[in-house]
Amino acid sequence: MAFNPKITDIQVSDSNEKTKLYQYVVTLADKSKYRLFLSKNPDWTLNSANRLLNIPCPMCRKDYYCKCMDKHLPQLESEFLSKLGEQA
Ligand SMILES: [Zn+2]
Repeated sequence: MAFNPKITDIQVSDSNEKTKLYQYVVTLADKSKYRLFLSKNPDWTLNSANRLLNIPCPMCRKDYYCKCMDKHLPQLESEFLSKLGEQA
């Protein structure tokens, strides 16, 4: 299944220059929100994405934690990096 996440909002949640670990909360076009755990050393890597439970998962419709986005981390990472580039 093709999956093309579209990020509509990015909020910095936590950044630690010493450990080079960063957390962002992003909102996707389908209104789902994810907390992204990234490292930057020197390139950004998206290590994991935890769905916030504001709406049921758009993929599996669970309203509890699921692992759907784990399969789509590369797409989410490239979308995040292109949006981050637009903001800078
Ligand atoms: Zn799911």
